[in-house]
Parts: sequence; structure tokens; C-alpha cells
Amino acid sequence: MVRPTNDVILVRYGELALKSRHVRNRYEKTLMSNIRSMLDAMDVDYDDLSREWGRIYVHTTNPAAVGAAARVFGVVSVSPAITCEPTLESVASTAADVGESIINENESFGIRARRSGNHEFSSRDIGVACGDAVFERVRELNPKVDLTTPDREIMVEVRQNKGFVYTDVVNGTGGLPLGTQGKMVALVSGGIDSPVAAWLMMKRGCEVIPVYVNNEPHSDDTMRQRALECLSVLQTWAPGHPFNAYEVPNGISLDAFLSNCQRRYACIFCRRMMYRIAAGIMEKEGAFGIITGSSLGQVASQTSENMMAETCGIHVPIYHPLIGLDKTEIIDIARKIGTYDASIRPAMCCTAVPEKPATAAKCGEVCSEEDNLDVDKLLMDALSGAKIIDPIEYS
Ligand code: ATP
Ligand code: MG
Repeated sequence: MVRPTNDVILVRYGELALKSRHVRNRYEKTLMSNIRSMLDAMDVDYDDLSREWGRIYVHTTNPAAVGAAARVFGVVSVSPAITCEPTLESVASTAADVGESIINENESFGIRARRSGNHEFSSRDIGVACGDAVFERVRELNPKVDLTTPDREIMVEVRQNKGFVYTDVVNGTGGLPLGTQGKMVALVSGGIDSPVAAWLMMKRGCEVIPVYVNNEPHSDDTMRQRALECLSVLQTWAPGHPFNAYEVPNGISLDAFLSNCQRRYACIFCRRMMYRIAAGIMEKEGAFGIITGSSLGQVASQTSENMMAETCGIHVPIYHPLIGLDKTEIIDIARKIGTYDASIRPAMCCTAVPEKPATAAKCGEVCSEEDNLDVDKLLMDALSGAKIIDPIEYS
């Protein structure tokens, strides 16, 4: 028996269930529109999408839609399913068709039944009717019923107007629908960490505005290209939400720091300038915070003391989603999301990094050194040189 064709994908989402009716409605609409954009961006044919309380359906027989829907932020799991009538007869005969196509000799099977809506039967009745029908259909294979650890599992769901039979539950990316948590500026260098940090916040529903700080002549085009390549991968996670990515020149202010301040503080000054730049773009774009790829202790300069010195007097919310992660955990995510290969391409290292960077910078000292410079002017110059990166460069 050829297995009946799956004609729908059940899309489940998690945390939305915790929201009020109004918020949930809005989130569900965003999620639906994001699923549509993902299917379109991945060139996956589908007939239609529909929504009912707590569930989205992608109507399609195209197996490629499973992976596309699972990739969308906010989706907890998906199941390709066969639609049938919401009656015991219909679900039982469909379950038997499916059972016949997957159960081998001497294997055990179990039915997982669920029901919602008003029906004249219970979920237990569904389990019994489907179990009997499957058993009868494959009787000569000597099947066994096992509800605890069956070799084959058949899921049967009866909702008010439809029944569904399926066997697979594919994990989704999870998180919240992109676009439901406001905007944030993401400082993206193109290294392994910052694209992962931006992705994690996208996963939590934030639209990100990537900012690449161009430190030429202390960096070169290899670094810029690496950052652009990371953006192109990140953009594939956010179809329907095209980035407004910025590139901001910071070489002149870096030079000013290098010639007027203690060399060992170079990275701290540079980071403080990046935060000010990001804060400027945040304001312009109506965003609510800055995201970095800092991870505590990962490199000698990422100490808690330095992190405090980097932000003293800079009053904007700065998020470091990787702060408590190990490098191996960050690399695992980078591989999973596809930015790793771009991030490890050979690129120049910043020539302004001192041989012995400070590991315990003092806020007072950092701020008084900055007083030797016209930081406001340097910031204004940097921001006036800010350019939106043409999406062609990272598409
Ligand atoms: P990454 O792997 O993201 O480069 P890192 O571990 O090398 O991070 P640093 O170079 O100390 O750490 O930078 C810390 C964070 O500062 C980066 O994760 C990123 O968010 C931001 N950053 C550093 N350089 C740049 C840059 N040129 N443009 C934009 N953001 C940057
Ligand atoms: Mg780096």
C-alpha cells in the first residue's frame, strides 16, 4: 500500500499561548506572514495558509515546505499530515492506510490520539477505533500494540471540522515571531560571535539593524567582505524583513585615540566609540537597544572590569546574548545557523589591537583620557559618514 499523500503541514508554536488574546492574535498574524515569506524566499510551492486558534496550517503536498516552515522563528514543531473527516470512521481508515505503509513484520505500534471541539466520542474512542483498524489491516504481520515505546507511532488528531493523521514531528527553530519585539542595532563584525548574537535576538523576535564599523586603515576589505557574507546568511533567516544595514567609518577616531591615549586602552576606546555610533543609529532608526557578541573571558580583554569601563557614561541598553556561553556552544550555533563558514574565512586582524591590552581598565581613567579628545566631534564625523549598505552587496 502506498502511503496516502500528506496534504497539510501542522505548524505549532509555543510561547504565544501565554499571551493575552489581543497580543496572541497579533503575533499569530506576524507568524503567518513570516511563514509565507519563508516559503516564497525558499521557492517552495504551497496552495494556501490558514489559521485557527493555536494552530497554523500550510496547505501543500510539497515536502520541502516542512523544512521551510520549521525554520521560521516562533515555530516549535511541524508535522506533515493527511487531512480527513472528523469522524471515527474516517480517521480510523486513514490511520490504517498509514499503518500499513510503515509497520513491518513483528513490529509494535501505538496510536496517540487527541481531540478538541464537540464530538460524540472521546480521544480514548479515537485511540481504540484507530488501533483496531490498524491492527486488522496488518494482522498477518503479527503486530503488537505498545503505547509506551512503540516501534511505530501514529498520531491522530480530531479537531472541530477536520481530522489529521501523521507520524512525524519535526522540531522548529523556536523563539518568537520576528518583528514582534521591536528593533535593535546589532554590532556585526563578521567574527564567529557577533552574527550568532544577532541571530539569537532575531530568534527572540527582534528586527535587527546590523552595523559594521569600518576601522580602515586598521582593517581592510577582507574584514568587510566577511561581515557582508555573514549578513547574507542572517538575511535568509528574516525573509520579509529586509535589513537596513549600516557601515560606519571609525578609522579616524581610532587614530585619534592611538595618538592621544594609552595604547593598552585602544580596544576599550574603540568599543566605546562603537557603542556611541550604535546609539546614534538606534535613535535614528527608532530602535531600543544594542546587541554585541561579547562573551565573558573569551579573550583577555573581555573581562567584567573592561566591560564596565566600556559602558561607563554611555546610557543605552546593551545586550550581550553570548555572555554566558562557551566558545564551543557559540560555534555549535554558528554552524547550525550557517554563519560559521563565512566567519572563519581568512581576514585581516585589526592593526590597532595593542600587544598588551588592558584587562582591568578603570572607568575614571578611561573617561579622563577621553577628555583629551573631542569625542563628540569624532562621533559626529563618524555618523555623518554612515552609509546604508546596498543589499546587493550581501544578497
Ligand atoms: P566577534 O567574533 O563577533 O568578532 P569577538 O569575540 O572577536 O567578537 P571583539 O572583537 O572583542 O570580540 O568584539 C566584541 C563585539 O564588538 C563583537 O562581538 C561585535 O558585536 C562588536 N564589534 C567588534 N568589532 C566590530 C566591527 N568592526 N563592527 C561592528 N561590530 C564590532
Ligand atoms: Mg572579533
